[in-house]
Amino acid sequence: MGKIYLVDVTNRDGVQTAKLGLSKLAKTMINLYLNEMGVYQSEFGFPTTKHESRYLRANLKLAEMGVLDRIRLGGWIRATAGDVEKTFELVPGIKHLNLSTSTSDQMIEGKYRGRMNREDVLDMSLEAIDAARSYGAESVAFNAEDASRTDIDTLVRFACLAKEHGASRIRYCDTLGYENPFSIYETCKTLAKEGGMPVELHCHGDLGMAVANSVGGAMGVIDGGQDAYINTTINGIGERAGNADLVAVILALRKSKGIAEKYTCEIKVDLSTAWKICRYASYAFGVPLAINQPGVGANAFAHASGIHADGVLKDARNYELYSHDEVGRGGLETVETGREICSGEYGGISGFQHIMGQIEVDFSDRNDAEEVLELVRYANVLAQKPLVADELRFIAQHPDVAQELLTLSPTD
Ligand SMILES: [Zn+2]
Repeated sequence: MGKIYLVDVTNRDGVQTAKLGLSKLAKTMINLYLNEMGVYQSEFGFPTTKHESRYLRANLKLAEMGVLDRIRLGGWIRATAGDVEKTFELVPGIKHLNLSTSTSDQMIEGKYRGRMNREDVLDMSLEAIDAARSYGAESVAFNAEDASRTDIDTLVRFACLAKEHGASRIRYCDTLGYENPFSIYETCKTLAKEGGMPVELHCHGDLGMAVANSVGGAMGVIDGGQDAYINTTINGIGERAGNADLVAVILALRKSKGIAEKYTCEIKVDLSTAWKICRYASYAFGVPLAINQPGVGANAFAHASGIHADGVLKDARNYELYSHDEVGRGGLETVETGREICSGEYGGISGFQHIMGQIEVDFSDRNDAEEVLELVRYANVLAQKPLVADELRFIAQHPDVAQELLTLSPTD
């Protein structure tokens, strides 16, 4: 019986969302939080984009150091041999890659305008998979963009050939959010069975069904005899109407009627970190949590009407499917309402030592503190808002890695 794995794509789909973005430090924090949560893989960025190189290398270093001790870090590129070559030139230590190509007639005809047909696209992709394997990639996923508008025979053929060339899974992209839970169940069951390899579900929310489609698709893949990988993003942030929300997917897999009895997650994700990671992503992206967001919205455990309040006070299970402490809520939090000293790009040593003292970070001497302060200034230049305690702690603990990922040099 296949199992379900989570592949979070906040640092790829999330950051390519129009009007939104994350600093390289924030992307690193997301990897650290996902690692702490127990998510199987983070799609941590774009290896062929030059301004990502140092950040990607710095995060691979964190993996080597055992700081990112269990999460796999995977890069996203186009499925061309040229992109593979550039990837290994800029980020030589990368081990896991997702190679993307469009598979639907709509996209092949609409994008290439007669320059390439389906066979050309297939050849280009297989050549890219060969190249990735020859450069030493440990795992290669074949990413079928617009898979949901691609006929199933084509997809199965692509999957079988990708597998022959050394791909270890196929990503079924519902790029436009066109699927429904029933259709994706059937298609992905067939794809798993006939393609003979694990399937990733990459679902978008244009019709409000990203989470339901991810779960339905994963059930199909497992019933087709393969492992399923679900792509998520924190708070559902992603292109247009967004991706499948990480916390909602975990809750659905655990709490929805009959699912957990039949379908199991490979790694036990620590859902109690949800509150922390969702609030951090909300701050880093500058997008407030929706009041009705599953698990972490302000109203997720709020009751006002007479019948509900009475019922929940007698027994919370009357009106709550899960408890607030399961998602890491319920603790008391202090909010500063008076004088506040914040980090900033023009900050000085006195304010900095005050801030670090409050979060109990000590320095051996003033020089040491000044070096970290310099890095914090740079981090502020990129973030353009005060750093949070975990970011400050990270910089103080790993100044060399922080320096690497804070370095942006267009002339390199
Ligand atoms: Zn996407």
